[in-house]
Amino acid sequence: VLAGTGLFKSYGTARALAGVALDVMAGQSLAVMGPSGSGKSTLLHCLAGIERPDSGEVLLDGKRIDRLGEPARSELRRTAFGFVFQSGQLLPELPADENVALPLMLGGTARRTAVEEARQWFGPLGLQGLEGRRPGQLSGGQAQRVAIARALVGRPKVIFADEPTGALDQATGMEVIHLLTDVSRRQGAALVLVTHDANVARWCDRTVQVRDGRLAESHTETETESGARTATGTDAEAGIR
Ligand code: ATP
Ligand code: MG
Repeated sequence: VLAGTGLFKSYGTARALAGVALDVMAGQSLAVMGPSGSGKSTLLHCLAGIERPDSGEVLLDGKRIDRLGEPARSELRRTAFGFVFQSGQLLPELPADENVALPLMLGGTARRTAVEEARQWFGPLGLQGLEGRRPGQLSGGQAQRVAIARALVGRPKVIFADEPTGALDQATGMEVIHLLTDVSRRQGAALVLVTHDANVARWCDRTVQVRDGRLAESHTETETESGARTATGTDAEAGIR
């Protein structure tokens, strides 16, 4: 569903991406790992139309999106993509259900309808009863689940998550990752997830390693630890999963 090829991006003289190619299929999850400063967020931003690569191509359903102007990219981000960041992405003055409804309202859906639709995500994400809470009255894990609901509510083709568990403790983080990978798979959305945590990456179908703006050899997860799913990661298997 989403592919990048030959992606280069520099900030001034600093090269953040030096020729990256990758793709992710509908319903598939891809973990992006690598050291701090290696270019993970830059890669995500280029794939998601937040930034324009200096060269290379980004294709969504086979159509180039990397040369679009900002209005078209912004429209694309709203309609085709969902985003989950580390924290602080909810509007503090709005209750949880309106935070989730926001992308729908921005797309012209009436407030009532949007909030009704938004509330349907609270059950599946274990957030029943928290619809009226403001972000400041939620735990970190609850707030991230609200952010996931907001990323999913527009039924995006691709969900981009940059260190979504970075601000959470290990147990809460894993809970959030289970929900994120599970719900996006069931929605048929592709998931591009940046993480430092190998335990988080293990829940994705595939992992790629970024080093100095390039992809190092991508590895597939084969070991099975207690409770962990075995991700084999071949394209054929991912396609039918
Ligand atoms: P982290 O794990 O710390 O989040 P990262 O892998 O996401 O790191 P990036 O944020 O993609 O790394 O940054 C890659 C390189 O590009 C770094 O050297 C960084 O300093 C530089 N960089 C990123 N964004 C900018 C910017 N807006 N202006 C200038 N340099 C930038
Ligand atoms: Mg980053």
